[in-house]
Amino acid sequence: MRGRKRKIQTAFKPAPRRVAAALFAWYDENARVLPWRVGPRERAAGISPDPYVVWLSEVMLQQTTVAAVAPRFREFLELWPTVEALAAAPVEEVLAAWAGLGYYARARNLHKCARAVAAQGDFPDTEEGLRALPGIGAYTAAAIAAIAFDRPAIVVDGNVERVMARLFAIETPLPAAKPHLKETAASVWPQQRSGDFAQGLMDLGATLCTPRNPDCGACPVKFACLARKRGEAAEFPKRAPKKERPTRYGVAYALFNARGEILLERRPAKGLLAGCLGLPGTEWVAAREAAAPAAARGAFEKAGRVRHTFTHFHLELDVLVGAGAGASAEAQVWVDAETVRLPTVMKKALDAALGCRAGLFDRK
Ligand code: SF4
Repeated sequence: MRGRKRKIQTAFKPAPRRVAAALFAWYDENARVLPWRVGPRERAAGISPDPYVVWLSEVMLQQTTVAAVAPRFREFLELWPTVEALAAAPVEEVLAAWAGLGYYARARNLHKCARAVAAQGDFPDTEEGLRALPGIGAYTAAAIAAIAFDRPAIVVDGNVERVMARLFAIETPLPAAKPHLKETAASVWPQQRSGDFAQGLMDLGATLCTPRNPDCGACPVKFACLARKRGEAAEFPKRAPKKERPTRYGVAYALFNARGEILLERRPAKGLLAGCLGLPGTEWVAAREAAAPAAARGAFEKAGRVRHTFTHFHLELDVLVGAGAGASAEAQVWVDAETVRLPTVMKKALDAALGCRAGLFDRK
């Protein structure tokens, strides 16, 4: 039964060469200008992408948008223009520069990977070699191999998945369809200009083959698109219903001193927001009552409640504010509350606390 279904799904085969030629012609004219990209004109002029730049952009772009990454990417490159410079930086500085981009384990792996590459002299130029580096998964290895080294690696991000699901009208819902979508992409992937093909598909997904209202009329591969032929473009990719995210509860303490500083704590090296600075607080637990007893501690007053959504759960954090002084304990530091850069959830908590700070001191 399963085999039969698969056979029906792959029965549609657009001519791969025609698809590639149409996509290249469109990409050559319409490629997005991105700070990390060597565009088709530069490539034609003999400019090659810098593997460090490709790697950095691919890691930064995971789970977030081009618009959010672009300014941060420039900042990173100014701070650390080479992989050797990044490798030589203290990990705390890398984490601080990453603040707000989320997924902090990625920043730690970024630093580890930079050290590994600096130690071996350069980035490996094959998917297998890249996969062996810390923090580089199948997608990132394929993206670097294709974009930086023009290897015919099959690069399938969310945009490429959507384009493939539509071209071939793949009925299997995501995420189960992922392996099939990769096979499908492989069936039309060219041996030449692999990096441009990957970036062309990404651009197509980002600009025309968009999630809600695909602009099929302007699409260079519309002649090959089964979902369009059926008039069902926006119905692909199919998706399995999302699981409900649970909610966790916690308390964060915002302690200010008379100099306008706040007491922060470096989080443990493992777990969520590993190694980042944050407000001291309770564990994040499944029941609000379980987080509450610790909130009764000391002379704190309630500043508010902030909500934040992580990949696997929602968090409700009660923020308590108080006045303090003196030395900080181990792993704690007093820092300027106005200028410190924090992970988004901690920034929300700090903002809630800053609103109540005025009453704590007569600051002039
Ligand atoms: Fe996407 Fe429409 Fe192009 Fe098909 S024709 S690939 S649905 S934009």
